Amino acid sequence: MNPSYERRLSETLPQVHDRIAEATDASGREFESVRLIAVTKAHPVDAVSAALAAGLTDLGENRVEELEEKVREFGRDFATWHMIGHLQSRKARRASQLAHLIQSVDSVKLANRISKFAQEEGITVRILTQVNTSEEHSKSGFNMASAVDDILCVAEFPGIRVEGLMTMAPFGADDKKLISTFRVLRKTHEKLRTQGDVVGPELSMGMTNDFEIAIREGSTMVRVGTALFGART
Ligand SMILES: *Cc1c(COP(=O)(O)O)cnc(C)c1O
Repeated sequence: MNPSYERRLSETLPQVHDRIAEATDASGREFESVRLIAVTKAHPVDAVSAALAAGLTDLGENRVEELEEKVREFGRDFATWHMIGHLQSRKARRASQLAHLIQSVDSVKLANRISKFAQEEGITVRILTQVNTSEEHSKSGFNMASAVDDILCVAEFPGIRVEGLMTMAPFGADDKKLISTFRVLRKTHEKLRTQGDVVGPELSMGMTNDFEIAIREGSTMVRVGTALFGART
């Protein structure tokens, strides 16, 4: 194993844990109520080895090919693999086989593909639905205007379990914009949760630069790459 990832994590993981603890304390929440997803995308398998050695078992990848490579190297059940990147429908099958949670389901069409596959296999695929809270055209996700209706529709698809919602904040947004973005996701989630347990309790929001704000707004999963592993090349 390349010792540099181990050495780096021995410094960065306590820092990230401290940041999570401060944010949960400040909002009267338990430290354990936030799951840390270590985003290993664009880092070599050494980063995954170091993460596993450090006790990080939730790992995030944004490309199916890279997810496949890493799952092949470590085994699927050596970690909990999260697919966090935009997924083309034609790769839905492969992603469903590899990931334990597909966080980036951003359209009814994609959800339908996953559902078809799940029914063929007789399995349940766990997903989050991604919402385009910032309504930037460059971002994927369900549009705010129809998100509640669309997600309720997806939640009815057989073979799919919607565990909750995911969003990405706009890059470089100020705190005010970040707060409103995360709050919009939480409100959308609350609306869905009034329908009973059709949508699960997870709110995946917060990355290296904004996860404290996301935690204060109710995040249950933060997806952190740079703060743990350094800049991606
Ligand atoms: C890359 C990525 C992250 C991690 O971003 P950092 O800023 O490096 O923490 C989180 N979520 C998604 C969807 C990503 O693509």
